[in-house]
Amino acid sequence: MKARCLVSSLPTVCIIGAGCSGFTTAKRLKDYGIPFDCFEASDDVGGNWYHNNPNGWSSCYESLHIDTSTSRLQFEEFPAGDDWPHFPHHSVIHQYFRDYVDHFGLRELITFNTTVENAVRQPDGKWAVTLDTGETRLYEALVVANGHHWDPRTPEYPGEFDGDMLHSHTYRSPFEPVDMRGKNVIVVGMGNSALDIASELSHRSIAKHVWVSARRGVWVLTKYRGGKPADKMMMPMWIPKRIALRIARKNIKKQLGTMESYGLPKPDHEPLGSHPSVSIDFLAKAGSGDVTCVPGIARLDGDAVVCTDGTRIVADAIVFATGYNITFPFFTDPAIVPDEENRLPLFKRMIKPGIENLYYAGLAQSSPTIVNLAEQQSHFIARHLTGEYELPSVGQMQEIIMRDEREHLSQYYAAARHTIQVDLRRYTRDLHKEIAAGVKRVAEKTPGVKTQSVKVSV
Ligand SMILES: Cc1cc2nc3c(=O)[nH]c(=O)nc-3n(C[C@H](O)[C@H](O)[C@H](O)COP(=O)(O)OP(=O)(O)OC[C@H]3O[C@@H](n4cnc5c(N)ncnc54)[C@H](O)[C@@H]3O)c2cc1C
Repeated sequence: MKARCLVSSLPTVCIIGAGCSGFTTAKRLKDYGIPFDCFEASDDVGGNWYHNNPNGWSSCYESLHIDTSTSRLQFEEFPAGDDWPHFPHHSVIHQYFRDYVDHFGLRELITFNTTVENAVRQPDGKWAVTLDTGETRLYEALVVANGHHWDPRTPEYPGEFDGDMLHSHTYRSPFEPVDMRGKNVIVVGMGNSALDIASELSHRSIAKHVWVSARRGVWVLTKYRGGKPADKMMMPMWIPKRIALRIARKNIKKQLGTMESYGLPKPDHEPLGSHPSVSIDFLAKAGSGDVTCVPGIARLDGDAVVCTDGTRIVADAIVFATGYNITFPFFTDPAIVPDEENRLPLFKRMIKPGIENLYYAGLAQSSPTIVNLAEQQSHFIARHLTGEYELPSVGQMQEIIMRDEREHLSQYYAAARHTIQVDLRRYTRDLHKEIAAGVKRVAEKTPGVKTQSVKVSV
């Protein structure tokens, strides 16, 4: 294996993963001359957006189109194509990622087909990183960018089911891995994958019938508002969040009416009180009677499932679109992995107070996109690594974490799926303010050093 480090006096860094979080971080470190290795388990960049990724971790199905509009997902230094549709197919996103990596000369800096198996912090603070080649290397800092949509979370129910059961993670198409033609199918969940898969299977030429089973109703939002991608129509940032949310909720109700009018269960929360589930198709399918909504599953019963209201549905297949665990298989220290409720509070969703040389990149469920989240976070990471930016004290970081969680989580109902939510625009604005504050802290400690201006791009 080639040594990938550039020659530098700056700390040596290991980046785990070359999805969009890993490769945008790699670009920034390259720009700053920070030496790094980036290990990627697969044979190409792209992570989730690499359909049929040979690493087995992509949850991308054949018909997947991104829910984020082009203008929101594009990278700040590498605009999306002028001819792109509003919501491109996964193949376009993957090619865009490949083009980014080639354009910025990153491909030769990434070590492909190499999995990080262990990352252990040593008593002197360095990270011992063990690869599947058997080699162990020491680094002064670690960036974890292994993604959080690859480890399927599947609920357990009493009883047995005779038919096919699969998680949306392994669903590829109506025909793979299970041929769903002519079958009665139950899709569990009402997140984005559930809505996509239920809409696709409920075409009359595919499944016989589709039921969607969910413990609670959700607001199904549309991708468009007034002929424009809805995520382009967000409230201006000068409007306080509380007021912006109130207006947005009112607008959504006015535009959509009630969920019950489409035959869907009444949500027990306000619009935007859960991570957005977005689908025009699904509303039409539910309204057309091609999808029937039922409550959560109480038990499996041979050729059927029994719902919590006693409804018994005879079915051939169940697709669990029930989300993902946040998992770091290479860590053994419980202090740096999420607790049982999926909680891992981090300063600016990157730093565990007290462990200053470990950065979690892309570890947020950010609306409207995760694609360019780490690109913004990498400004912080690079400036911290070069010493231009200094963290606040551990106590201050803990206070800021609590304040940020109140800001970003309070609009959502409490659940394991809502522990890492952020509003990307507000997060980015605050992140750049924090970078400016940390640069000032350095300047104050080092007389004669001028404070540099920090670009705020939101
Ligand atoms: C069905 C679906 C639809 C989605 N739709 C949207 C959307 O509309 N908009 C949006 O913004 N986001 C969406 N997402 C979220 C998606 O996770 C992000 O867009 C994006 O893929 C996150 O990038 P990432 O680099 O953080 O993680 P990933 O894309 O998961 O990449 C992680 C990379 O790390 C590598 N890796 C992991 N572990 C190791 C290891 N131990 N050693 C070496 N390499 C390792 C993997 O091989 C992979 O290449 C969707 C996710 C799913 C599942």
